[in-house]
Amino acid sequence: MDYLKQNIQQVKSKIKAAAERSGRNWEDIHLIAVTKNFSAEVVQAAVDNGIVLLGENRVQEAKSKIDLVKGDVKWHLIGHLQRNKVKTAIELFSMIQSLDSFRLAEEIQKRAEQAERVIDVLVQVNIGREKTKYGIDPDDTESFVKEVAQLPNLKIRGLMTIAPFKEDPEDVRLYFRQLYNIFESLKEKSIRNVSMEYLSMGMSHDFEVAIEEGANMVRIGTGIFGARE
Ligand SMILES: *Cc1c(COP(=O)(O)O)cnc(C)c1O
Repeated sequence: MDYLKQNIQQVKSKIKAAAERSGRNWEDIHLIAVTKNFSAEVVQAAVDNGIVLLGENRVQEAKSKIDLVKGDVKWHLIGHLQRNKVKTAIELFSMIQSLDSFRLAEEIQKRAEQAERVIDVLVQVNIGREKTKYGIDPDDTESFVKEVAQLPNLKIRGLMTIAPFKEDPEDVRLYFRQLYNIFESLKEKSIRNVSMEYLSMGMSHDFEVAIEEGANMVRIGTGIFGARE
């Protein structure tokens, strides 16, 4: 699977270049390899080529892979989480990037309390206000963050978004900028029990623009593993 090694190197060099353009250190940008639709065997090959963070969309699909992949890796949930899967999700994932409703936050609180744990989450923001996407409305993000901050067994570590798809990634630059501004303004407010560290935005076709606009976590599937079936 030499192609994986090449793809990973190529993605990393693009991350490095984009980080430099935005005056940052490339080591501060976290690369998440998105493994949906790819087998544990392929994922293992990526891990053997230096990948340490893995992203999965579905709890069920992740469950079957997580046991099989060996190495010092962390798995993040990046897809919509149903409340009846929360118990399993908090056992499998080190971070839930897709916190998109208060009802979900309450369920995570309940399960985390039972497990005597604190769960790291990112608040998913629907930056393009698309009907087809999950996420908190940008205007409601601050009040949502303040509400979730009251739940003692959740720890907000930042924001995540899936930008609208545009043929030309330049056309999503403004969305990324908007989310960066929300991220920075929340950081300045120093809300108790909230730590604005991670800004997860950018996928295969738009991650360079996302990094230029302040992303420090990018989620790459196709760019590493190739096209999905
Ligand atoms: C599939 C997916 C990605 C990766 O998409 P690519 O375009 O293949 O890089 C990133 N984030 C989320 C939430 C996804 O569902």
